[in-house]
Amino acid sequence: MKRMTTRSSRIIALGAAAALAWACGAPEADAPAEDSGAGPPNIVLILADDLGYADIGIYGSEIISTPHIDALAASGVLFTDGYVSHPVCSPSRAGLVTGRYQQRHGWEFNPAGRDVNAGMSLDEATLADRLKALGYRTGMVGKWHLGHQEPHHPMSRGFDEYFGVLEGGSTFIDSRLPGVEYGSLRGEDGPTERRNKVLRGFEEEKVERYLTDVFTDEAVAFIERGAARDEPFFLYLSHTTPHTPLQATAEYLEGYRHIEDQRTRVYAAMVASLDESVRRVVETLKVQGMYENTLIAFASDNGCAGYIGHACSNGPLFGFKRYHHEGGVRIPFIMSWPAAVEGGQEFSHPVITLDYMATFTAAAGEETETEDSVNLLPYMTGEAEGAPHEYLYWRAGASVAIRDAQYKLIKLNRTDFRPDSLRGDGRLQPPEGGWPTDSPHGQLTLLYDLDADVGELNNLAAEQPDVVARLEAELDSWRGTLLDEQILPGVRSTITQIDGEWVQLVF
Ligand code: CA
Repeated sequence: MKRMTTRSSRIIALGAAAALAWACGAPEADAPAEDSGAGPPNIVLILADDLGYADIGIYGSEIISTPHIDALAASGVLFTDGYVSHPVCSPSRAGLVTGRYQQRHGWEFNPAGRDVNAGMSLDEATLADRLKALGYRTGMVGKWHLGHQEPHHPMSRGFDEYFGVLEGGSTFIDSRLPGVEYGSLRGEDGPTERRNKVLRGFEEEKVERYLTDVFTDEAVAFIERGAARDEPFFLYLSHTTPHTPLQATAEYLEGYRHIEDQRTRVYAAMVASLDESVRRVVETLKVQGMYENTLIAFASDNGCAGYIGHACSNGPLFGFKRYHHEGGVRIPFIMSWPAAVEGGQEFSHPVITLDYMATFTAAAGEETETEDSVNLLPYMTGEAEGAPHEYLYWRAGASVAIRDAQYKLIKLNRTDFRPDSLRGDGRLQPPEGGWPTDSPHGQLTLLYDLDADVGELNNLAAEQPDVVARLEAELDSWRGTLLDEQILPGVRSTITQIDGEWVQLVF
């Protein structure tokens, strides 16, 4: 089966004449990107790790100030209903970089520590592969989390340059250094040794400073190098903040000394470091005269984590990272491209990070079409109206979910496990070969009306069997298009109580 097709992008109704000239094919092939908006845009994707829906000002944070992320949203489009395709790191990123639901190519679950040789399918083209083929210089800075070995390394997956950590959960700095605070989860001391190697290309590089600042320095340097080159660039800046370990430096803690709870204080400071990163990236683009014609996207890879003790916030949304409820999968989602897209817009139909593939490649001149990715540019320019997606879908083993314009259906395995079965890390010990995908104790069916109940507190499944049946049928038909055999089984799992019933979450 041919899974991807490409076609020349349709001329989109761009907001600026110069950008329109680009879409019409006016510029020279080797014309440098200029502030006039001529030529294909530079593309910068900034991804946060475990940042909650309401952890930034413009999405409703009451304690964290993020003026530069807020300004980015004000300069473009704030998506109120932006989603990821999975509520944990690695599969979410696999969907994001391929523009396809990751269960189509076998990356349904987070890898475990034992899976050191595994990685996302090598048959998939990444955003970097596609943009490189369209003449882009491609660079990645930060967390990859799609395989450790050389064939899976970002520079084997379309990136010309790489600086970062291949795994998740990286140490930011030596906790013993003056001014550094560590937000302890279980009373333990903060890390002093670097947990994951920082690589420049394939070689380890010694890093002493705060990792978020180091990544920002690398991103700025990549943009500055890009300014001196003829071709446009794609930068994937994949921060590890504000994922655990919760560590912050005095510089970022300064504005949050008044917060008594240490984890909340450190977490807020970590988000401040993210905001500073956005400030420096935007400032560098402006200094280089490239800001107007740069498409900047900002998102998180999943919702905020419930296991960090309420230090983060998904606002009114129920659930956390690992949940198919909104708190796990709905995330801050912003796009800005001043030369082509009018600022100050809010878009409320559901969109998903899978859409980056079609959107970025369309902006670059030739849209890559996948089964799942929708070019959002026409919606951002006003050329298209309505909903880009009729349905969005999620699956992690037996846990499944679907939403349409109004309703969300979630089905979770009932379980006999109780909290005394959990290990010290809050997870269940998996059986040999991972968790089965059947439902030996039946499933809990949850139906929510998101228009009336965005907090998913009122289960309507018993009251609205017709809606349940329609969404179940749609979900079954989607599941029929996925791979039966995934590359790795689901081994990570925990339990939670919803509507008084114990259910199992697999991730
Ligand atoms: Ca994450």
